[in-house]
Amino acid sequence: IKILAIESSCDETAAAVVVNGRDVRSNVISSQIALHTLYGGVVPEIASRKHIEKINQVIEQALSDASVTLDDIDAIGVTYGPGLVGALLVGVAEAKAISYAKNIPLVGVHHIEGHISANYIENKELEPPFLCLVVSGGHTHLVKVLDYGKYEILGRTRDDAAGEAFDKVARAIGLGYPGGPKIEKVSHEGNPHAMEFPRAKIEDGPYDFSFSGLKSAVLNYINGCNMKGIEVVQADVAASFQKAVTDVLVGNAMKAIDEFKMDKFAIAGGVASNGTLREAMREACEKKGVKFYHPSPIFCTDNAAMIGVAAYYDFLAGKRDGLDLNAIPNLKLGER
Ligand code: ATP
Ligand code: MG
Ligand code: FE
Repeated sequence: IKILAIESSCDETAAAVVVNGRDVRSNVISSQIALHTLYGGVVPEIASRKHIEKINQVIEQALSDASVTLDDIDAIGVTYGPGLVGALLVGVAEAKAISYAKNIPLVGVHHIEGHISANYIENKELEPPFLCLVVSGGHTHLVKVLDYGKYEILGRTRDDAAGEAFDKVARAIGLGYPGGPKIEKVSHEGNPHAMEFPRAKIEDGPYDFSFSGLKSAVLNYINGCNMKGIEVVQADVAASFQKAVTDVLVGNAMKAIDEFKMDKFAIAGGVASNGTLREAMREACEKKGVKFYHPSPIFCTDNAAMIGVAAYYDFLAGKRDGLDLNAIPNLKLGER
């Protein structure tokens, strides 16, 4: 089964061809990062306009890289939420147009289900059930993957997402957008124990997260330095912040592994490409004899290959969408 997948939920225009769910034949990503860097973050209207401009050539490239034409495609998978509504609509309208013109079945995909499914691409033996930590620009979810397309959310962030915290702290220490990769880069020259930033624990939600206090602590520290005329050592702040985020993510994940006796654990989403986080998770899992999975960085941040994988399992389960498929900006995981 050959799936053409389309992803346009945020600032990447992406298309991919995925065969039988785990064989990625092409993965084209047109990133708008350079464009949005000018504004210090994603500007929704600019994102939508850029998607419109790029989407046809991205799809053509994905088909030609995979040496297929639309006549070879068995289903079209498209992200229909969550994300920026105007950005999502571009992909959804495109997918519906192709589906209608070529009479190809249409499958709407949940973006976060895509992130989780990215783990199947390079780990052919990975199958549910397993525990997955989704850490992206808009989500921090600790999820039990019960089966393909079946999820139980154990915990989530009460305020900022992990990626959002990276982006905000990066802006505060003058690294700019996108924050995650920049913080990771400078942190290599910094001391992760230079400052002890808070690790928030949530009383009534053992698997929930909170990053706004950490973000405020970093901002207070910087303001304090500025008032006292002390130089802010960017690398030390970055490394200490990254360590605090990592400690909290690892702590909650390991608690859930113990409680639910899981023997497989995966991470997903843009922040899952962070080397410090991956190493800390790998070590913690090794100690428990738990098998640790993660996608390559290119499959962690937004891409269409992961959408093609999720679409395949949805397709197998009989999921089909009609030409009334709409973008749902706040679509919840596990909702259909
Ligand atoms: P969502 O998937 O929740 O809708 P999104 O699609 O915008 O949000 P992703 O593309 O999955 O998010 O991930 C982008 C986020 O990942 C950004 O916040 C970015 O700073 C962060 N990120 C990317 N690379 C790294 C890294 N190496 N270290 C830490 N964070 C990173
Ligand atoms: Mg992005
Ligand atoms: Fe994403």
